Amino acid sequence: MKVYKAHILYTKEKSSFEVLENGYVAVGTDGRVTGVSSDLASLDCVDVEVTDFGDRLLIPAMNDLHVHAPQYRNQGIAMDLELLPWLQNYTFPEEMKYADTGYAKRMYRRFVRDLWRFGTMRACVFATIHTESSRLLMHLFQEAGLGAFVGKVGMNRNCPEGLSERVEDMVDGYESLIKEFKNPSPLNSNLSPLVLPIITPRFIPSCTPEMLRACGGLAAKFQLPVQSHLSENKDEIVWVQELEPESTCYGDAYDRYGLFGQTPTVMAHCVWTDGEELELIKRRGVVVAHCPTSNFNVASGMAPIRRFLDEGLRIGLGSDISGGHDLSIFRMMVYAIQVSKMHYQQNHECPFLSLSEAFWLATKSAGSFFGRVGSFEPGYEFDALVINDSDLNHDHYSLLERLERYIYLGDDRQIEHRFCRGKAIPEPLIN
Ligand SMILES: [Zn+2]
Repeated sequence: MKVYKAHILYTKEKSSFEVLENGYVAVGTDGRVTGVSSDLASLDCVDVEVTDFGDRLLIPAMNDLHVHAPQYRNQGIAMDLELLPWLQNYTFPEEMKYADTGYAKRMYRRFVRDLWRFGTMRACVFATIHTESSRLLMHLFQEAGLGAFVGKVGMNRNCPEGLSERVEDMVDGYESLIKEFKNPSPLNSNLSPLVLPIITPRFIPSCTPEMLRACGGLAAKFQLPVQSHLSENKDEIVWVQELEPESTCYGDAYDRYGLFGQTPTVMAHCVWTDGEELELIKRRGVVVAHCPTSNFNVASGMAPIRRFLDEGLRIGLGSDISGGHDLSIFRMMVYAIQVSKMHYQQNHECPFLSLSEAFWLATKSAGSFFGRVGSFEPGYEFDALVINDSDLNHDHYSLLERLERYIYLGDDRQIEHRFCRGKAIPEPLIN
């Protein structure tokens, strides 16, 4: 067992922070929190050495529910296009390069290192159609000790030939990844693997009905999670309706193939989700990955997150590199609050997000997609960041003000230690 002492802040509920000045958190050998308290004696771990982080802040680590690893080179470029021309002109040509595992290694190493830098310990990641580059990315996450659901991407229509894969090859590729990565950890059989394949049809326009059916089949057969894109852009929604004329909404087009909550499912964007689609998301327990910067950059719109929260939907935040330009989930909290304020300008019955709500989205709410992750309540996996904000704390701010200033003003330089599932995670090597 290990015990850490610091100023502890986390969100049990979305409406408020738990704040423990000079608090203690105890972590068992399986990496799970066994207790959190201001009173060491109450934690029942008398002879355990305490690691004292002094005046630093100890908070749950970040979770990124939607990010494209092979678009990392394109981060911060091509920010003047809408979704469909952006895909054709920038994204697809870049993804084709991942047929070369040497190129993939060079880019993916940097991507994994930078997720680490910004304190993201778990992520739902799109790779490309290429099985060997996807395998390499999964190995890099394993070597780093970070948690990731990694999706080899299914696509076989409306894309360049170099990014189209036959359905049989997609299935074979997935099965070889599943065989390698899906076994429970032999040391801790009560813990699921940190790195796991996630079934990833790119989006309806990229996949024939056969491809979608095969993806749904893999998810059901191997009980694997699913990720994709949903109702991001109005032209895209019209296109999906043309391609799947029987479907009653975009979400229903996935549902018909067993790709909408039949196994744990996360859908990115949901900017234009309403009516029947919203009801279906709720009924199926589909998780929404809100990607506010991407929605601005690719001129998609503003997702109605307050409404989703009030409807009881499960929501997390996504950086969506490279539609989004910023890998920091802390910054994503800021953008999510700002988007909700723009909504508020249009509809005053829709209050904007509070800081605790944004923090909860990035930690406990998003973390639930990976298991018991994102809080310091007993039983949660200890995914944590130690923040040394001494350069931002120049005039005796309260602990909550210090956290807010870190979220708005801080970056990777203030993160001193990172933990994933109880283990301290050193900087991954990039060479
Ligand atoms: Zn995306």
